[in-house]
Amino acid sequence: MSEDGVAAAAAVERVATRIETERDYLTELDSAIGDADHGGNMARGWAEAAEAVAELDDPDAATVVKTTGKTLMAEVGGASGPLFGGSLVFAAAELDDGITADSAVAFAETYLEKVTDRGDARVGDQTMVDALTPAVHTFKKSIEVDELSPLDALAKAVAAAERGVAYTVPIRASKGRASYLGWRSVGHQDPGATSTLFILEELLAAAEAALDTTAPESADATSPTIPDEEA
Ligand code: ADP
Ligand code: MG
Repeated sequence: MSEDGVAAAAAVERVATRIETERDYLTELDSAIGDADHGGNMARGWAEAAEAVAELDDPDAATVVKTTGKTLMAEVGGASGPLFGGSLVFAAAELDDGITADSAVAFAETYLEKVTDRGDARVGDQTMVDALTPAVHTFKKSIEVDELSPLDALAKAVAAAERGVAYTVPIRASKGRASYLGWRSVGHQDPGATSTLFILEELLAAAEAALDTTAPESADATSPTIPDEEA
């Protein structure tokens, strides 16, 4: 297996374990403003994805990501399955030459672009886009402007996603099932934004394990998308 392929496969395994751990929590979030299937859908999808990836013969990173995306598309269902899965399949091509700082940024940007193309949600609609957008913007800026290492950039991206998740609470849903509730969606944390954060946290942990290092604790990113409270 290529080194990147091994790291990518380990990341999928990690995400599957985390999502299984968070299954009830994600279901609880989705029962407040949706139909209580996000935890179950995601846990099943990621477990199947980890299994499909484990069966691959010496895959590179792009193949691992593509296989994961295809499995999520087939297994997760709902609104989020095609968004998570289809976007991964599409963005995987950015990793055809392996994982570098540049290809990781291209992958992240293409993934975000595909999610917003498909779902037509923007920041402020109380969806996964509220976590994903600041994460991707922060990742890109950290690498291309602040010249941080990919690992430090990913840590900043996770911190930005965390604030994005918090941002979904006071806003009103304008896309997806939660939008049927109108103003009653206000005050609830979006399940898809939350699962996006968990995935990013596991990607960071997987990257740390692969590089055998730890990102600095003080990863309080200033996000270009959602400003800091003190800003
Ligand atoms: P469903 O709403 O069909 O039951 P899930 O429960 O699996 O699907 O996923 C719900 C999540 O999907 C929401 O919390 C939100 O983050 C995300 N979502 C729904 N619609 C959209 C959309 N149009 N764009 C982006 N994300 C969306
Ligand atoms: Mg649901």
